[in-house]
Amino acid sequence: MRSFNDALSDPHKFIVTLELVPGRESSGRSIGAIHSICRDAAEDGRITAVSITDSPGGNPALSPDVLGSEIRSYGLDVIVHFTCRDTNRVGMESRALQLAHMGMKNILALTGDYSGKGFGGRGTPVFDFDSVVLTSMLNDLNRRLIKSGHSEIFQIGCAVSPFKYTEAETWVQYKKLDRKIEAGSSFVITQLGYDAGKYAELLQYKAQQGDSTPVLASLYVLDRRSARPMHANRIPGVHVSDKLYEKVMQEWSVEGEGMGHAIERSARLGVILKGLGYRGIHIGGIHKSFDDVAAILDRMEELEDDWQQFLPEFCENHEGFYLYEKKEKENGTPFQPAQANGRLIDNCHYLFLRKAHDLFFDKGAAMAPVYRKISSSLEKKNMSWVLKRVVEDPFKKLFLSCESCGDCGIQHVGFLCPESGCPKHTRNGPCGGSNDGYCEVNQDRLCVWVRAYHRMKRHGEAEQLSQEFIPPRQWELKGSSSWINFHLDRDHQGRRKAA
Ligand code: SF4
Repeated sequence: MRSFNDALSDPHKFIVTLELVPGRESSGRSIGAIHSICRDAAEDGRITAVSITDSPGGNPALSPDVLGSEIRSYGLDVIVHFTCRDTNRVGMESRALQLAHMGMKNILALTGDYSGKGFGGRGTPVFDFDSVVLTSMLNDLNRRLIKSGHSEIFQIGCAVSPFKYTEAETWVQYKKLDRKIEAGSSFVITQLGYDAGKYAELLQYKAQQGDSTPVLASLYVLDRRSARPMHANRIPGVHVSDKLYEKVMQEWSVEGEGMGHAIERSARLGVILKGLGYRGIHIGGIHKSFDDVAAILDRMEELEDDWQQFLPEFCENHEGFYLYEKKEKENGTPFQPAQANGRLIDNCHYLFLRKAHDLFFDKGAAMAPVYRKISSSLEKKNMSWVLKRVVEDPFKKLFLSCESCGDCGIQHVGFLCPESGCPKHTRNGPCGGSNDGYCEVNQDRLCVWVRAYHRMKRHGEAEQLSQEFIPPRQWELKGSSSWINFHLDRDHQGRRKAA
């Protein structure tokens, strides 16, 4: 079997992977098509691995674990998508052990789309971990595997979306990528988009960080059916511009011509991505036959030397934010946050909570031993509930819409609550699903990370956002006083100190 790991370690190898999406059936047409595509891919020889999605859109689908193990029998390596949406940390670790046992060692660690509908309605969104913590857990498992004498360990990958067009989203997206790499990601796959400027931006950012982790760029074979929801922002993290959408619709309006255009567009973007320096492409949008993939790869071979001539087709000149162009345009003009509404209130809220935090929750401060003593004494007298009910709850409900998780993380998110403010409870940076600054789930609300960026940027503190690994919250603390938990080192920060 051609190993994905070997391909990643060969800097001269241009990697081609395929993303396949099982449906809500255990066998039948879509599963049969996946098997047939994989058999043909193995025979063709140009595909290094196939990746299999994990209930995309949060809707039930055949498990990538079982399908992947079948596909490996064709001699193709498999990348399993692994999301944090449906099981807690215990379930996730058990699944990882099962994958290790099955020999499925390539994992794409994702926070995951929000929960969709299953039997009887919408599923519980678990999100016990985010993708950074999941990566860290898998890396820990790697250490244990090595200790017990295993030579093959997990190859952990992560996703990033460069297709963000506001400064705040771009910044926090890239900072989160840094945390994923630090946590142990050894390859990166981008979200999909058709903007060469953004593809180039990601590589430039990584080079600036001194990060040489290989990146595969997503390349989606865009047809009329997929273009509609992507253009309407119904697929989280994916960007299809108005201009491209109109072009695709026009191409598919002529009978029998649509697929030819889709293949040509994919091949042209493919050679651009290779020319820009991507280590490979990750082809999606293949549902029926491997022939379309073979046609793209054949055409790429023909076009490869002329990749630069196709660049104008994929330069969107989007009015939004580009990390490097913007710096040139700005010419020293200070950044003005776009969030004008409620700016004064938001600023006061930030300054007030930051001050309160410095006064009462800084373990290096002179008063810290006193607060610890008080906390300990309240605990001994069984009186911590008085502090919680009379002071903490009213204060935190009023200022933070607190959900009493007992393990406070506001200091990591610009003094906003990651529990009530983010449907996926992210503490290490945003998911990839925001659109134009707004939350993937609550589309009328700004992403909590965008809000955090704006308020911190005003005070020159945006650099502090997502700068370090934040351990997962301690569920056993739910409903207890987060203040006392902090001073008695029971919360995630205390555990980190003890580790
Ligand atoms: S992080 Fe937890 S304790 Fe802090 S405000 Fe949010 S729910 Fe309350």
